[in-house]
Order: sequence, then structure tokens, then C-alpha cells
Amino acid sequence: MSNLPTLSTWALNIAPSPTLAVDAKAKSLIAAGEDVCGFAAGEPDFDTPVHIKEAAIKALQDGKTKYAPTPGIPPLRDAIAQKYTEFYQIPTKAAQVVVSPGGKFSCYLTILATCSAGDEVIIPAPFWVSYPEMVKLAGATPKQVLATDATGFKLTPAMLEAAITPRSKLLILNSPSNPTGAVYTPAELAALTAVAVKHNLYIMSDEIYEHLLYDGAKHVSPASFSAEARERTIIVSGFAKTFSMTGWRLGTIVAPAPIAKAVAELQSQMTSNATTFAQWGALAAYTEQAKTQAALDEMLIAFDRRRKFLHAELNKIPGINCLLSQGAFYLFPNISSFGLDDLKFCERLLDEHKVAAVHGSAFGAQGFMRISYATSDEILAKGVERLAKFCATL
Ligand SMILES: *Cc1c(COP(=O)(O)O)cnc(C)c1O
Repeated sequence: MSNLPTLSTWALNIAPSPTLAVDAKAKSLIAAGEDVCGFAAGEPDFDTPVHIKEAAIKALQDGKTKYAPTPGIPPLRDAIAQKYTEFYQIPTKAAQVVVSPGGKFSCYLTILATCSAGDEVIIPAPFWVSYPEMVKLAGATPKQVLATDATGFKLTPAMLEAAITPRSKLLILNSPSNPTGAVYTPAELAALTAVAVKHNLYIMSDEIYEHLLYDGAKHVSPASFSAEARERTIIVSGFAKTFSMTGWRLGTIVAPAPIAKAVAELQSQMTSNATTFAQWGALAAYTEQAKTQAALDEMLIAFDRRRKFLHAELNKIPGINCLLSQGAFYLFPNISSFGLDDLKFCERLLDEHKVAAVHGSAFGAQGFMRISYATSDEILAKGVERLAKFCATL
């Protein structure tokens, strides 16, 4: 028996990412020779576009291997500022842009820059698994508000009003949503933003899936509604999902200048700049727009086809009810009619039928499961067939 001091409360209290855990278990089963249909991964099954890879390779060969300015290389910050100004009509200067080592870290920096001990953060559920844990690491208190399929997995202004207390500091929004794929309409988002303005909350708008939209859905940011909205909105995004660059670890933050400065100062002590040559690669996503658009279009056609297929097949299974989402690459079917705890459901689905999906309660929504359709059409077809077989035994 060793008698070492205890680990920190941060280490002891953190819940490891359940999505990464299920995906890791599926990958280790596959490595052991099992025929597993993996629906757990939160990443596109496409490769990074060639022109982006080539730009990073060139940067390495040109010796872009040293520290860069903490908030990012100037041409990339300029390109991002230009994107928000021109594409979204949100006037943005380069000084408002910070490039970070991943969208995940962008979220954490935003929470650290805005929240202290005692502050409450409103997190609409189903939520991305990392938000509550990041809030706890900042010493603040997560406050979950559940919006089920009854409201299209969307928070209403009344639900938001009811969750606000004098301690509320930050509202987290994520449209298009991971895990549900739900997309707020501009009117819905404007109404939520108005409540946040009225109660003087910051808004962290996680827009990492901004370009993965279907059925003509349109992305808007809370920052686009008014000057009052803009001065309190921190937009988080990144390269991982849109450009199939999950392993590059590059995220962005666009915020009012004082917040961007605070975020950059936090980052300067925690990681310094995001990987220098990776940033030069990412720059090509903007400087070679036509190639970028072609790669994105190819991905969107595949995702849309799979989304429709999966939605139709899921709803053919007696007992499953699934909304058709308009964004990201997930569906979030309701499996509550089987009377089985969703964690048990997903464990048995993996153990007995070799299908990996993540239980809804990991996202704060018991009775659901998340299926990622960022996988091949063949695996998708095989996986739903197995799921149907499993459901028939329940
Ligand atoms: C994937 C994801 C991110 C960030 O991903 P990174 O790989 O860290 O860039 C942020 N928010 C949500 C909701 C995501 O699904």
C-alpha cells in the first residue's frame, strides 16, 4: 500500500469523455478482428482535402516550424476575420480572432475567460459531452435544461427564462447540434438571444458544424442579430468537422476585442500558439476557396444521402422514433419505448450485435442514443439491420 497524497479534486471529479470511450472500445474490438459497425465516432470519414495537406507540407519544408504569435499567424487571423465580415455580415477585425489548438480548447478558453466560482452556466441538453466537465474545471456550476424531441431538441425562450438565476453568467448554444443534429431557425435563435441580452448573459455559440447543413437550412450566429448581441457573444468554431481535420487540432474563437484579448492571454500561459505549420495548412482552406468548396460539397452529398437513409430505416424499426435533423452528422433516435436503460441498451447492442453507438444519457438525455452517420453506406446498412434484429428481441 503506497501512501501518496490524493490526486486533485479536478482529476478525481472529471468524467472521462464517454464518446471517446465507446469509440475506443469499438476500435479495439475491430483491431481484435471483430466485425463491428462503428456509429460512435464524432469525426468525418473523409480525408483532409489535398490542397490543405500540401500547404502544410510546404510550410514544414519552408521551415515554418517555430513559435508563432499566440493568437495565430496573421494571414489566418485576417482570413477568418474576412470570412465573418463578408460571409456572415458580422463586422470582425483580426484582433478579435484567436486560433487555438482545437475547437474543444476554444470552448474551454471561452468558459475560463467568462466564468468564475459561483457562476452558473446554462447548458441546453442534449449537450456535447465536454461542456459540463469544462464548466466544473473552471470552478463554475453547470445548469442543464433538457429539451427533448417534443420540442425538436430545441430550447424555447420560456425554458431559458425559467433556468436563469441571479448567478447565471453564460449561455451555451450549439447549432447545428452535436448530438441531435438540430438546427435553430434564425427566428428561434433571435428569441433566445433576446432573452440572454435581457438578462445580461454571455453567449458561447459553438458553431463548429456551421457548414454541415441539409434541406436548405441556413446558419446564423447570435452575434449577427444586434450590437448588444455581438458584444456578449463568443463564437467558437474550427476546422475539424468542415474540413475533415480532426487530428490537426485547430480551433477558432471570434469575440469582442476585450474577450479575445483575455482568451489569448489564457492561451499564452496554457499552450502558446496552435501548431504553426498546421495553421499554414489551414490557411489554404481560405486562399483556395474553389477546391475547398468542392471537397465540402462532396462530403455534404454523402452525408445527406446517409442521413435520409438512416432516418427512414430507423423509423421502420418498431419502437424507435427518430426526428429528421438538418445539420451535423448525427441522428438521435428515441429508444425509450423498449423500457431498457439507454446505457444497458447500447452496451448490449455492442456486446451482442457488434454495433457501437453512444447512449443518450452521456449527453444528458436518458432514453435516446446517438448514431453518427459519418461512416460508409455499407456499414450504415449493416448496422441498422443489426439494430433492427436487436430491437426485435426486446
Ligand atoms: C467536434 C466538436 C468540437 C471541437 O472539435 P475539435 O476537434 O476540438 O476542433 C466542438 N464542439 C462540438 C459540439 C463538437 O462536436
